[in-house]
Amino acid sequence: MPPHAEHGGRDPAGGPLSAPTRARLVVVGVGLAGTHLARSLPPALRRPGEVLVVDRSDRYVFAPLIHEVAVGRLHPDSVTLPVGPALRGRCGFLRAEVTGVDLEGRLLLTSRGEISYEHLVLAPGSEPVPPPRRLAPHFLPFHTLEDALRLREALAAAWREHPRNPVPGGLTVAVAGGGTTGVELAAELAALSRYLRRRSGRRTRPGLRVVLLEATGHLMGWLDPYFHRVALEELGRMGVEVRLHSPVEDASEEGVLAGEKWLPARVRVWTAGVRASRLVRELLVPQDSAGRAKVGTHLTLAGHPDVYVLGDAALREDPHAGPLPPTGSVAVQQGPYAARDVGRRLRGSARPPFRFVDRGYAVSLGPENAVASPFGRRMRGAPAQALYRSVLLYYLRGRRQRLLAASDWAMERMGRLGFP
Ligand SMILES: Cc1cc2nc3c(=O)[nH]c(=O)nc-3n(C[C@H](O)[C@H](O)[C@H](O)COP(=O)(O)OP(=O)(O)OC[C@H]3O[C@@H](n4cnc5c(N)ncnc54)[C@H](O)[C@@H]3O)c2cc1C
Repeated sequence: MPPHAEHGGRDPAGGPLSAPTRARLVVVGVGLAGTHLARSLPPALRRPGEVLVVDRSDRYVFAPLIHEVAVGRLHPDSVTLPVGPALRGRCGFLRAEVTGVDLEGRLLLTSRGEISYEHLVLAPGSEPVPPPRRLAPHFLPFHTLEDALRLREALAAAWREHPRNPVPGGLTVAVAGGGTTGVELAAELAALSRYLRRRSGRRTRPGLRVVLLEATGHLMGWLDPYFHRVALEELGRMGVEVRLHSPVEDASEEGVLAGEKWLPARVRVWTAGVRASRLVRELLVPQDSAGRAKVGTHLTLAGHPDVYVLGDAALREDPHAGPLPPTGSVAVQQGPYAARDVGRRLRGSARPPFRFVDRGYAVSLGPENAVASPFGRRMRGAPAQALYRSVLLYYLRGRRQRLLAASDWAMERMGRLGFP
């Protein structure tokens, strides 16, 4: 009997609602790596009951665009994709929390029971590195759509209430962490400030003060120093105060102590790094300091050739590019590779190793600007922003969401969601 025996009702991907107990290929995570894997399944695995995808959620939020939701430029629906259309007709779907993996027993442990597998793909992504415990209550996290909506509310409240109750730092936003997320968010906040001042119609009204706090001497340290130089220049031009060598030492509801300087700030956001999802961090396998599981040339765990780890949760040492970073570009290449590699194993054909194609990276610096390195070339300004948006629309996949995001961008002059 196929594992997905029907017991009435259907999941969002068109499969039955009852929890299956086994599948030939089980995939954890229907994020970027998981959906790109599902689209590339070989014919042998497209039969009912062969592949089961498990995720805690039946919708996927496209994280690279949540900073635009936080400033009201994109509608939350434009970055939220139901999993159904991505999987329908290709594989089964089970909505469940995966709590562990019994690697020896080949069992996936979930909130809906145990599932046995022949091949397992772990693509559960990453989670933010939280601030030290005593600082945590004073910072908003920034990783999920809910975080972005909470930040939007905090910004709107600060803007609304400041004229009635002006307090030191009442319009200051402190962003802790000068990685790509912190830089993109700071630039969007500066653009939001320009928008709010323009809309208020009062030239004398102060805008938001945006301060980006970075512990080291470099923004986006893992990228080519060109990104740091351009970001410093452009953020400065937009009015963002960038404070390098400013680790956060303390915080309260009134502000932040960073680099031994006190900064009054009503809104405080934490964007300082990511680590592998807990599910992978808890596996007893070799990992790096971020808990990413080390994988070999076929993206499988040493000693467990049937278990793939992909995307943000994996550490792949590329012979040319070095350790691959936790980015969309890596996830969308690893998903299809794993699907094809399982197909090759089933057919008994030769298995080439995973080869990463470095297409470069793009960082948005507000609605009209970006910095990018397509195929090793350096690019900035409006052309880089156009490239950034087209790459993200490509990753976004859902036709409806692409249209929604593009129309939100086209209509941004009409106003911003959640702001006056
Ligand atoms: C704010 C932000 C901005 C970013 N900007 C960019 C950018 O501009 N460019 C870029 O290339 N990359 C960017 N990234 C990184 C990019 O989003 C990730 O590299 C990519 O999503 C990783 O894909 P993945 O498939 O490994 O994980 P994800 O896409 O995160 O998917 C993981 C999936 O696993 C599920 N899951 C996790 N744990 C469990 C569990 N225990 N049980 C069940 N389900 C589980 C989750 O619900 C999720 O659906 C950004 C990330 C963030 C957070």
